[in-house]
Amino acid sequence: MANWHQLRKRVHLGCSAIFLVLPFLNVIRFDIPRQRFYFFGYELWINEFGIIFFALMFLMFAIVVSSVLFGRVYCGYLCPQMIFSEASRALESRLGRQFRSRPRLGRAIFYGVVGVASVFLAFVFISYFVEPRDLARRLARLDIHTAAGISGAAVTLLTFLDFSFLRLRFCTTACPYGYLQGMLADGNTLLVQYRDEQHACIECKKCVRDCPMGIDIRQSPFQIECVHCGECIDSCETILARLKKPGLIRYAWGEADHRPKGPVPVDAKRVILTAVLLLYGMGLFVALSMRHAVLVRVAPERAQLYHAGADGRVYNDFRYSIANRSRQPAMVAFSLDYLPGATMNLASNPVAVKPGESVQGNFQISAPAAGRTEFVTHFSVRATNLSERVEDNFPMTFISPTEAP
Ligand code: SF4
Ligand code: SF4
Repeated sequence: MANWHQLRKRVHLGCSAIFLVLPFLNVIRFDIPRQRFYFFGYELWINEFGIIFFALMFLMFAIVVSSVLFGRVYCGYLCPQMIFSEASRALESRLGRQFRSRPRLGRAIFYGVVGVASVFLAFVFISYFVEPRDLARRLARLDIHTAAGISGAAVTLLTFLDFSFLRLRFCTTACPYGYLQGMLADGNTLLVQYRDEQHACIECKKCVRDCPMGIDIRQSPFQIECVHCGECIDSCETILARLKKPGLIRYAWGEADHRPKGPVPVDAKRVILTAVLLLYGMGLFVALSMRHAVLVRVAPERAQLYHAGADGRVYNDFRYSIANRSRQPAMVAFSLDYLPGATMNLASNPVAVKPGESVQGNFQISAPAAGRTEFVTHFSVRATNLSERVEDNFPMTFISPTEAP
């Protein structure tokens, strides 16, 4: 006999731990004040559009594929809203039993515990958008004047109201994923289904009493409230086992309960969606592997094409920018290729850039004027990140007056 309840509670425990630690390990955070996107150890700058695009598309398609294949498994097993709502209900009913003779005291303890838990959960939730140590410092200073402070107070209040009163009603009223799931599911999607060809149901209604959403699965497997958690499967199996009969509710692939040849049903829609997911996953992998932690840009300044110096040399102006997106200091050295006799006038070479900083500057390149027969000479500026030994080459043009050959 399967024990979906036990499996769910174990998964809930694992998911709670993951939800609570992810922002502290910088695994995933949209850091609004710093304008950074932390993604599995990478600190991405908000202007790294390509990587962020692939990361978001990959996550979105991961949700779509899991919904098409496994229905609302996310709702029943992985969603923090569901996990903490069930925990709040379990606490409420436990306190209700313990303080049966003093219900007001029981309620007061319940609201006290949910209040403390709400402050903590709101802190963790906001840590997905603000660095947690930064946030803790603001809280220690009771900084509720800034927008972050006011948002923090609002999130705490909403969390408290949610886990005190709204709880699983959120899933059927406010959560867009439940509605989206209705559109994504098809005839092969995994769902919880009631089947009673032998008319074995004894109308005990244990499946209804144990359903966290308070519905009767016998009405239809497609009720929007049903999160396909499998609790009713356990309930029915437990009751009918006493009569030595199998349960009437089970997980099934679609209403017709197709038996897939492999672990999951395979059809064109699933193949295409999985291929798109893999495509975005590959795009993300390539974008991450091509990423340089230190981003260097070099561009010409063409307000004046060139100027001829009294020293017999021709001067061209350029500018550079260096963004150090790593957590280590960086040194970037500039040099020239394919421009014989040229020198570079840069105030400090190599250029030092602190972690998380961006610097910009200008430099001049000069070359002897004598003997130049081409108006435009192609050359390149080489930027070497000395700490990582990574080189970037920037093809440039040097402009000078020409001499007749
Ligand atoms: S638990 Fe099973 S037997 Fe009881 S009402 Fe539900 S489906 Fe029928
Ligand atoms: S009907 Fe069954 S599967 Fe659906 S939410 Fe209720 S207990 Fe979970």
